[in-house]
Amino acid sequence: MLLMRVCIVGAGFSGAIIARHLAQKGHEVVLLDERPHAGGNCHTERDAATGIMVHRYGPHIFHTADQRAWDYINQFGKFRPYVNRVKAISQGRVYTLPVNLLTINQFFGKTLSPKEARTFIESKADKSIKNPQNFEEQALSMIGPDLYRAFFHGYTCKQWGMEPTELPASILKRLPLRFNYDDNYFNHPYQGMPEDGYTAIIENILKHDRIEVRLGTSFEAVAEEFDHVFYTGPIDRYFGFRLGRLGYRTLDFERIEDEGDYQGTAVINYCDQSVPFTRISEHKHFAPWEADKFSRTVCFREYSRLAGEQDIPYYPIRQVHEKRMLESYIELARTEKKISFLGRLGTYRYLDMDVTISEALAACDRIDQLVAAGEAI
Ligand code: FAD
Ligand code: UDP
Repeated sequence: MLLMRVCIVGAGFSGAIIARHLAQKGHEVVLLDERPHAGGNCHTERDAATGIMVHRYGPHIFHTADQRAWDYINQFGKFRPYVNRVKAISQGRVYTLPVNLLTINQFFGKTLSPKEARTFIESKADKSIKNPQNFEEQALSMIGPDLYRAFFHGYTCKQWGMEPTELPASILKRLPLRFNYDDNYFNHPYQGMPEDGYTAIIENILKHDRIEVRLGTSFEAVAEEFDHVFYTGPIDRYFGFRLGRLGYRTLDFERIEDEGDYQGTAVINYCDQSVPFTRISEHKHFAPWEADKFSRTVCFREYSRLAGEQDIPYYPIRQVHEKRMLESYIELARTEKKISFLGRLGTYRYLDMDVTISEALAACDRIDQLVAAGEAI
């Protein structure tokens, strides 16, 4: 088998998984990340002032139905059971999300049973919308105008900077609607939080004699030749933005430090448009097994806005013109040799961690097949 010297751009899950696989197959791997740490956007670290484990680029909860991704990640770190239970404040009252029987009963001041609640919500839903074309239509056809206005319209305007009529229905389809008291934010069978944080897991994936990790190093600054490059940075950046910039939302985090317990739970969403931030995350509650050890607490208010050229790209906006631009970049990428684009930035899609892992493992399978067939990657 031909052994290669490869470059991997990005020390998130996508880059780390490909790096380890290739190293295990005998290839020499140089992995770069321009940030001073591994972990990509899942990076966690101990907060210098309080000692609390913080999720630097926004809260991350691991959840999956994919056995392969779950088995893979569990090889590299211990997961503690964790269930994401989100509270939401709307018009001065606190509710639980996703919309469940408690939300419905509290919001409408009722004591409905599951069957009664289903009939009640069906009576509110807009039945004239048979095939929802956007976020708003999806919401109105599922839950009707009252719950939509209270929990989704304002929050979505803040999060995406546009009216929900301009957004795809698929964004809302991510959230369950339940007619029981289950307030677990996710439906997946596996859910947890890594005991030592995500960065420790990614560092463990990268621990291999044939992987050289160069942090604080951008791809653009490296002049060496490689047999192949796996690029998990933004695809438009690789091409010098020559076809335009793919739009992203970025986040600003405003730090709050306090004594004891600030809000009593990990995440509270602020659904009213009059409140400028979308949510507050209190990070000691993401690690309930150690939360009592800390006398102080640290939280982050999250503000969403359109990403400027110097900002960290978080959520791909994926409007029609951006999808068209992405297609053009993909065409351009097809003309390049010795480079593969992967991960959330390389493919300009919102990917949960489990999907990221599963796609990276699938890419490893494809690499093996090509190598076995003696073909170029
Ligand atoms: P990234 O983690 O973004 O890694 C890419 C790396 O490439 C970065 O470290 C970057 O510095 C580096 N890089 C880019 N360009 C260059 C360059 N030219 N030179 C050198 N380095 C470069 N998923 C969940 O499953 N659960 C959650 O609760 C969850 N919460 C999230 C919350 C937020 C706010 C966001 C935005 C995402 C969330 N996700 C969550 C998704 C999760 O962050 C992604 O699945 C994951 O980060 C994707 O990993 P990646 O390796 O593809 O990309
Ligand atoms: N959303 C909302 N109100 C909430 C929570 C979510 O309107 O309290 C909308 C918002 O548009 C968000 C989408 O539902 O982008 C999907 O929610 P999710 O929790 O998956 O958001 P993300 O993890 O992308 O921040």
